[in-house]
Amino acid sequence: MQSMKFEEFDLAPEIIEAISYMGFETASPIQEKAIPAAIKGKDVLAVAQTGTGKTAAFTLPVLHNILQNKITGTSTLIITPTREIALQIDRQIQGFSYFLGINSLAIYGGGDADEWEQQKKALRDGVEVIVATPGKLLSHLGMNYAKTDKIQHLILDEADRMLDMGFLDDIKRIISKIPKKRQTLMFSATMPPKIEGLAKQILNEPEFISIAISKPAESVFQGVYLTYENQKTPLINHLISDQEEYKSILVFTSTKKKVNDIVRGLRNKNYRVEAISSDFEQSKREEIMTEFRANKIRVLVATDVISRGVDIPQIDLVFNYDAPGNAEEYVHRIGRTGRAGAEGVALTLINELDMEKFDAIEKLIEKKVYRAQMPDFIGEGPKWKVKVRRATKGKKPFRK
Ligand code: ADP
Ligand code: MG
Repeated sequence: MQSMKFEEFDLAPEIIEAISYMGFETASPIQEKAIPAAIKGKDVLAVAQTGTGKTAAFTLPVLHNILQNKITGTSTLIITPTREIALQIDRQIQGFSYFLGINSLAIYGGGDADEWEQQKKALRDGVEVIVATPGKLLSHLGMNYAKTDKIQHLILDEADRMLDMGFLDDIKRIISKIPKKRQTLMFSATMPPKIEGLAKQILNEPEFISIAISKPAESVFQGVYLTYENQKTPLINHLISDQEEYKSILVFTSTKKKVNDIVRGLRNKNYRVEAISSDFEQSKREEIMTEFRANKIRVLVATDVISRGVDIPQIDLVFNYDAPGNAEEYVHRIGRTGRAGAEGVALTLINELDMEKFDAIEKLIEKKVYRAQMPDFIGEGPKWKVKVRRATKGKKPFRK
């Protein structure tokens, strides 16, 4: 899998600089497909699951366009279902825009009179990018001070969720108040028929982009241990200490905080155990990676920084110290082993709190991962327990 570097896109140099400042190195698959289409001015309907980088997939081309065409005034409207998502998007835009002199504002419900006045002022002054929840935006639009006549980019983020939340009519009312001649980008995690219906109504000859969830390679043996948190380090030590065939071992954890504790717990006089995290300077990261590749470090404990993009030639064993955030991340992490047909082993340690999350991952990869037996001396782990989810109509049943 060869991922594209951001420099390879036709993006303005200021945007490239902003991206590298954010720490993004290679584009995610949805970004790789959506950014070029959006730069060309096409409408886009993009479907990719949560956590695949959809925000940057729509913000980057839009910011590029504003910059390139020296657009002033309110040109971009991003509609999103919740206050939290609006704030997240606004924060990401501000991160990028620091270099670009482009202003954005999040508009959502629940604020006080001061906030209302601030939003009103920004809308009247024509802030470049508005990120809004539908209801609150409509209240403002009803008062006729917002300058919507120059809007040329409309983005619907989490479109499926907005429809589930009953925002269809609000969305249509908002659209009736902005110019017909515009570029519309619609992003969704799923593609139910009602999304198709909405897309037909509001998109103009869209480029349809769909990123299927990737599946782990068949050559990777996957296992899961049900463990209490305090059993995890002893378990890993037991599994690796006298298994010399595992020369390169990666231990992933989702939280930076745990990295040092894990390293301390795995330290051993017979081999080197080191950490790598996004807190490290680039040079330090590279130094550690070089030693790891050269088999001078046997066990590397990492946060997700290195699970994307970095090429590690041969890992024999991957541990997930905890459940990855989502299926995509799981597939990425375990894809570090068993590459190019080589045999690999990926073991995931799941405590009672992560079971729901892991259950969701298994559904997405359509595989029930082998439940490995805890060694006797460690004692029993927690029992597998997840809430039973009723199959919803129209959804493909999950086969175990
Ligand atoms: P989605 O909207 O698809 O759920 P987000 O846009 O919120 O996903 O991105 C998920 C996470 O991935 C965010 O923390 C974001 O900063 C990070 N991210 C997105 N694109 C990249 C990239 N190209 N490189 C590194 N991290 C990225
Ligand atoms: Mg998103």
